[in-house]
Amino acid sequence: MTTFIDSNALLMSQMMSQPMLISSLLTHAKNNYGTTEIVSRRTEGDIHRYTYADCEQRARQVAQMLSRLDVQPGDRIGTLAWNGYRHLELYYGISGSGSVCHTINPRLFEEQIAYIINHAEDKIIFFDITFLSLVEKMVPQCPTVQHWVCLSDKNKMPSSEIIELACYETLIANENGDYAWPVFDEFAASALCYTSGTTGRPKGALYSHRSTILHAYASALPGSLSISSAEVIMPVVPMFHVNAWGTPYSCPMTGAKIVFPGAKLDGASLFELIDTEQVTMAAGVPTIWAGLLQYVKEQNHSFHSFKRTVIGGSTCPPAMMASFSEYGVNVVHAWGMTELSPIGTVAGLKAVDLQKSKSEQNHILQKQGRSLYGIEMKIVDGEGKQLPNDGKAFGDLMVKGSWVISNYYRAEESPLVDGWFPTGDVSTIDADGNMQITDRSKDVIKSGGEWISSIDIENVAIAHPAVLIAACISVHHPKWDERPLLVVVKKTEILQDEQSLKKDILAFFEGKVAKWWIPDDVTFIDQMPLTATGKLMKLKLRELFKDHRLAQ
Ligand code: AMP
Repeated sequence: MTTFIDSNALLMSQMMSQPMLISSLLTHAKNNYGTTEIVSRRTEGDIHRYTYADCEQRARQVAQMLSRLDVQPGDRIGTLAWNGYRHLELYYGISGSGSVCHTINPRLFEEQIAYIINHAEDKIIFFDITFLSLVEKMVPQCPTVQHWVCLSDKNKMPSSEIIELACYETLIANENGDYAWPVFDEFAASALCYTSGTTGRPKGALYSHRSTILHAYASALPGSLSISSAEVIMPVVPMFHVNAWGTPYSCPMTGAKIVFPGAKLDGASLFELIDTEQVTMAAGVPTIWAGLLQYVKEQNHSFHSFKRTVIGGSTCPPAMMASFSEYGVNVVHAWGMTELSPIGTVAGLKAVDLQKSKSEQNHILQKQGRSLYGIEMKIVDGEGKQLPNDGKAFGDLMVKGSWVISNYYRAEESPLVDGWFPTGDVSTIDADGNMQITDRSKDVIKSGGEWISSIDIENVAIAHPAVLIAACISVHHPKWDERPLLVVVKKTEILQDEQSLKKDILAFFEGKVAKWWIPDDVTFIDQMPLTATGKLMKLKLRELFKDHRLAQ
């Protein structure tokens, strides 16, 4: 039971009360790392480079431009954009001037995009040229939007018969940057991001200046993402979803050089940037890295500067960690969610772990890791009773902390249970605090009342040399209620007939998981359905295979 002490009963400190505001990150970067570069692959096709000092100047021009367009503090301003310098200027120009930067995920269904623009009541939408046709469809459906601004040079502006487009560069050129960042309450909303909404309507996580800065501090620390001015960071994880894992804030905070990949996320394009810009660390979901690894292998390339990659969003398969390790790249496994700004845990070794064998170390590093300072975690059973941190018991993962939402934007009922946010993930926590996700609660396979972790099954399957992507889902079974079915996309070069490959894959599980966890069947598809954030779309797979009959 927590006790609260009234402020009147305490001796209050005499420290300055300086609100933590997002604009101060960029001011800090300009003052201390003014010449450090921000490099972007633009949608126009070329590579753009400038410095933190340039970025800060243009962010102030953005703030002036917003004021000229009659944007008031608290107004929501939408962005539909790839990772690039203009998007970064908007992050700061919008939040820094007191309005709310609403990043919109262009991979959502069109009706979801229209829904969230209307739900947020966005006043302006800034968009990359690539999203023009999407924007044209949105215009008649989104009456709150007063201006559609294309993130383009004047001479590259597209034309539209449907809307009157404004040009970002022309608007900015009208401003001189003579603007002082305003000071206001650090609890004010700074940014808004909607969950991908695989079930039900997308829901908005409304971050504050304070929560964003605390998240940037914690995520930049050594042992977290370890971001510093000696690093060159390439955020592949999008700025349009989960704030690119906070890197647009933690990089200016620490002075790291940033390399933005823009719209080109294929293996060849990512490799080229890593190589030419001397990237030391990148961050992204496993599906992106599968493409990069395949390219590097095919081309017989190697990495020089590239030392670490942060992988999250979905479980990083151990086979992927091993592949990166062959190229001298360490994988840092992290877990988080939109509602946590997003990072909650990062895997890492303690000094005593360094004495352990490689396989013991890998066992620790394959987990999702310890909570960052600022996040508390617990696991509970179906009745809400806390389960032990013994690395075996698995239950619903609950979190609380300074960068966890307390409610969704404009929702009536808070999702919190006794002050804890239910993540919807099922996990274990070991005695050392390492959390390991076993499933999304809706993806757990319940066979004869016992739970099977679909993630563990997928991790084994992906290590099979013929498997490119694997998803394990439950299908109905007359005796056991549910049994696992493995859905596989084969590597393109595999010519083996499917019946014998199926037998091989099932045999591959022997000795690697409990016998009753081995899938009852394997089925092959050409393309894996993925969600708007690059995760396996198991809802769709369950629908596709709902009539799949298992052999008795
Ligand atoms: P999103 O809000 O779209 O970022 O999705 C958050 C969800 O992604 C979490 O609740 C997890 O289910 C999943 N997730 C994120 N990181 C990991 C990870 N490292 N391993 C397994 N699942 C993850």
